[in-house]
Amino acid sequence: MTDAISMAGYRLVENARLDARNTFGVAARAPLLVEVSDAAVLPELFGYAMLRDGPVLVLGGGSNLLFAGDPQGAVLTLGAQSIRILEDDGDTAIVRADAGVEWQALVLWTLGHGLGGLENLALIPGTVGAAPIQNIGAYGVEVREHIHIVEAFDRMLLRQVRVDPANCGFAYRDSVFKRDPERHVVTAVEFRLSRTPRLKLDYAGLDDELIAMGVDAADNARPSQVAEAVCRIRRRKLPDPAILGNAGSFFKNPIVPAVLATQLQAAHGKLPVFRGSDEGSRKLSAAWLIDACGWKGHRDGDAGVAPSHALVLVNHGHATGAQLLDLARRIAASVRERFGVSLEPEPRIIGATW
Ligand SMILES: Cc1cc2nc3c(=O)[nH]c(=O)nc-3n(C[C@H](O)[C@H](O)[C@H](O)COP(=O)(O)OP(=O)(O)OC[C@H]3O[C@@H](n4cnc5c(N)ncnc54)[C@H](O)[C@@H]3O)c2cc1C
Repeated sequence: MTDAISMAGYRLVENARLDARNTFGVAARAPLLVEVSDAAVLPELFGYAMLRDGPVLVLGGGSNLLFAGDPQGAVLTLGAQSIRILEDDGDTAIVRADAGVEWQALVLWTLGHGLGGLENLALIPGTVGAAPIQNIGAYGVEVREHIHIVEAFDRMLLRQVRVDPANCGFAYRDSVFKRDPERHVVTAVEFRLSRTPRLKLDYAGLDDELIAMGVDAADNARPSQVAEAVCRIRRRKLPDPAILGNAGSFFKNPIVPAVLATQLQAAHGKLPVFRGSDEGSRKLSAAWLIDACGWKGHRDGDAGVAPSHALVLVNHGHATGAQLLDLARRIAASVRERFGVSLEPEPRIIGATW
């Protein structure tokens, strides 16, 4: 039995189940769930001792976290749903979306308003507020390329702040917000988008998909067609969390020194190696490393690895977060033993340490 109390701008639920609020679909409970419908109440809420002094988990769509145990403090969700154009010079526009907006709804809204930029990021699950946290990326684009401002409630300063992208510490699936998750509650994000975007079509398979859709030449595609091509590929490649619980890629692609990448490639000719963030580093395919260790399609009870994608851990039904974490640790240990490469989880792990 749970008790709920509604106040202006927020609702409190004690002992709230989180099973349906994470895409792995694992069981978890929050001692207190705070559902915020108006971010203006955040200063008041963070005046209360439990939120001011204790850990607070900001929860979006739950598509990039694993409940390996229950969260210790309050869990806070943001519900505001507005999207609007703040500035528009006829080509470039600044679009502001509240944190609670579903990411795919924003992508479709911007495309519907003739604004390009987010098309390669179509169909990533989750909310706008979570997009800057790990600098979401797909098909050759990272969201940082289009972020104008991140609006957040700063728990240290106890006030609303506007964070410039230069101060967001964006990197591959990383940001200051991910590195220090207790500090900021992202309340809205402003994006800089264009009516004449330079399409990014160099990611493997994207141009072929456009041609398969009947676009005469990939370079002539409209942003909405690029988004559709991305959705078609993603639907084929990734398990739908509504059918098979998962959090997308469970591991980041490891960044290693270029010398090590060269040695590994000499020993394993087929290992895909990509550019790193600088000359001295390279990015390896985590999926290839895991597959080479024989994990694709592996299953321990209800915790498993997707048969279609070695990077995706799945919940076949009643796996617990602890069982999924145990499987992830064993996968990482086998990759480390065989290739000497450490894998780092991409989702945030709650209730346990990696
Ligand atoms: C099938 C599938 C495919 C995926 N594909 C991709 C992909 O291609 N690229 C990619 O980058 N990711 C991908 N992901 C991961 C995930 O969709 C993204 O990371 C997404 O941004 C998470 O959004 P969320 O709202 O579900 O965040 P949650 O899972 O709820 O939270 C993730 C983290 O962000 C924090 N957070 C959430 N909202 C806020 C906020 N408002 N303020 C402060 N902190 C907040 C949480 O505390 C947590 O640390 C995929 C996931 C799935 C299930």
